[in-house]
Amino acid sequence: MDTGIIVKGIGGTYDVQTTEGLVSCTLRGKLRLRDDRVLVGDQVEITRDSGGQTGVVETILPRTNELLRPAIANVNQVAVVSAVQNPLPNYLLLDRILVQAELLNLDCIIVFNKGDLNPAGALELADEYGKIPYRTVITSVVQHEGLDQLKKLLQGKITTLAGPSGAGKSSLLNALDPNLKLETGKVSAKAQRGRHTTRSVELLALGDGYVADTPGFSRLDMGSDQERDLQFAFPEFGPHLNFCQFRGCLHRHEPRCQVKEAVKSGDISQRRYEHYLILLEEAAPRY
Ligand code: GDP
Ligand code: ZN
Repeated sequence: MDTGIIVKGIGGTYDVQTTEGLVSCTLRGKLRLRDDRVLVGDQVEITRDSGGQTGVVETILPRTNELLRPAIANVNQVAVVSAVQNPLPNYLLLDRILVQAELLNLDCIIVFNKGDLNPAGALELADEYGKIPYRTVITSVVQHEGLDQLKKLLQGKITTLAGPSGAGKSSLLNALDPNLKLETGKVSAKAQRGRHTTRSVELLALGDGYVADTPGFSRLDMGSDQERDLQFAFPEFGPHLNFCQFRGCLHRHEPRCQVKEAVKSGDISQRRYEHYLILLEEAAPRY
């Protein structure tokens, strides 16, 4: 029996990447009953047909996690891509994605792309988010900067790429592996296609890691029971949380709140705190 990872699934056929190449597989009968439960990213055991290029998925190995949207199993980390200019960063969207990733217990990398358009601004952003602390990389596809660093961070991991259209996600992937030949630039054309067809999730092999370019992963679907959890999705709040006067402090209007004190003293960024308040409002229980 060989093992591999499902990188693509269309109409009951699954492409499984093994150390000896790609194998096009169907599912063993008992698995077919739960066809919809087989996910891209699943580690599987397969038996090959005699030719070696086709086979059957026999077993799905236990998952470390599963994302619903995009539907991927065993994701290790999220790389949020934001242009430093053109388009300008959407800070609320950036923080939304980071919070979503934190709530799902995923590691985060922030890629500030198009560093060539505003080098000083890129350094400032990398510094601000690096203090939180997040791993940050400044990249430029046109100047070939930061690409090796980014590639290293993707090795051996399953990474979902997130971030607004136009940030340069496809360009970055092409720069990391020119064989990918992903469509770039035609933002409106891509958006149009996105509206009419549901593109299936696919894992792209990059070195010994995998990347999913997942445009859908840009919203926060937070359950209303996550009001209390939200504070823990802001890592920089951590050192202050135990020192608020009230045990159940949500760091909103409560007196003697150490999170608010840290915002005043500049230890926590005002903008991040404002985003916390916006997301807290969204996470409030609805009666
Ligand atoms: P995606 O929607 O996030 O996949 O973004 P694309 O990869 O399609 O890129 C959008 C546009 O930004 C394209 O016109 C790219 O040529 C351009 N672009 C991508 N990366 C860079 C960069 O590092 N610097 C500059 N100046 N432009 C870039
Ligand atoms: Zn507080």
